[in-house]
Amino acid sequence: MSSTSRSQLFGDLDVTAQLDAPIGAERTWFGIGGKADALVSPQTEEALVTLIERCAQSSTPVRILGKGANLLVDDDGVDGVVVLLDTPAFSGLKFNREGRVHRLHAMAGADLFKTVNELKRQGLAGMEQMAGIPGTIGGGLRMNAGGSYGCIGDTVDTVRCCSMSGEVLYYERSQLEFSYRKSNLPECIVLSATFNLEPDDPVAVRSRVSEIWAAKKASQPMADHSAGCAFRNPLDRDGERVPAGRLIDEAGLKGLAEGGASVSTQHGNFIITDPNATASHVRRLMRIVQDRVMDHHGIRLEPEVVIWERTGITAE
Ligand SMILES: Cc1cc2nc3c(=O)[nH]c(=O)nc-3n(C[C@H](O)[C@H](O)[C@H](O)COP(=O)(O)OP(=O)(O)OC[C@H]3O[C@@H](n4cnc5c(N)ncnc54)[C@H](O)[C@@H]3O)c2cc1C
Repeated sequence: MSSTSRSQLFGDLDVTAQLDAPIGAERTWFGIGGKADALVSPQTEEALVTLIERCAQSSTPVRILGKGANLLVDDDGVDGVVVLLDTPAFSGLKFNREGRVHRLHAMAGADLFKTVNELKRQGLAGMEQMAGIPGTIGGGLRMNAGGSYGCIGDTVDTVRCCSMSGEVLYYERSQLEFSYRKSNLPECIVLSATFNLEPDDPVAVRSRVSEIWAAKKASQPMADHSAGCAFRNPLDRDGERVPAGRLIDEAGLKGLAEGGASVSTQHGNFIITDPNATASHVRRLMRIVQDRVMDHHGIRLEPEVVIWERTGITAE
């Protein structure tokens, strides 16, 4: 990105910016992949909205980075602007109460682990299903993160977003739909959300969180580098969702390796990486798994992990 583009896009805004920022290696759970031409942390919502408007007007690619827990950054990195919502303006949690309903107002960059811990501390029920799921509130809402105990959409009341042209949008519960790893939010930047929670005994909330966390640790390689499930659970011929991990396991692919990437021996839908891995290893392994599952089951697996690569679009 030229210095002219940089100064036109964010030179006068209340942001901190890092050029050639090693986002893949340092800001994703995989710990691999290339750099961002510009990594920008807005200090205020106004700065973020102006930045997004300017990116739209100049056709500059813009991407939002949460905790990088569902992300693979290509080895060549990404162009344009990567926005990080890590400043206090985007990472707080606030609580208020209306009758029996306790409302959590969470900024998009708030950490899911910290959110669940705070709810345990306060004895508020309704988000225990997020125990052990790494990421941010915004990243979680984008893909309706969750698992067999429920998903983040279950207790959402409202969501505020910024459209990719810089318009602030507000959605009420009646306008929101959440389904398996999906929401009807348009392509946008989630700014914040409110959740309706119920007061409960802190000991009971803590024990439900511990139970879910223990079940997750027992079945998934939580200590390894990964991006969680590599593939979405597909629909079979009867329209039933089947676990991608089971299909991968039945195709005999657990332990299969490509360079420094391998299919976890603990959970077939986790691709894990060692220090020698590159993003190309992961992408090659994903294609091999897709082909072998297709040969074995006649089902095409679709990636759940988001893959970022250069667009080749050059800002004016
Ligand atoms: C060990 C491990 C276990 C996991 N277990 C689960 C699980 O049980 N269930 C599950 O659903 N997932 C799981 N995941 C995946 C991951 O935790 C979720 O997908 C999480 O929602 C990712 O959030 P993030 O903030 O890290 O998003 P990132 O990985 O940073 O980004 C992912 C996508 O979300 C977009 N995004 C991020 N923030 C915003 C925002 N504010 N507005 C709009 N878009 C945004 C990004 O642009 C990108 O497209 C796991 C991952 C790991 C590493």
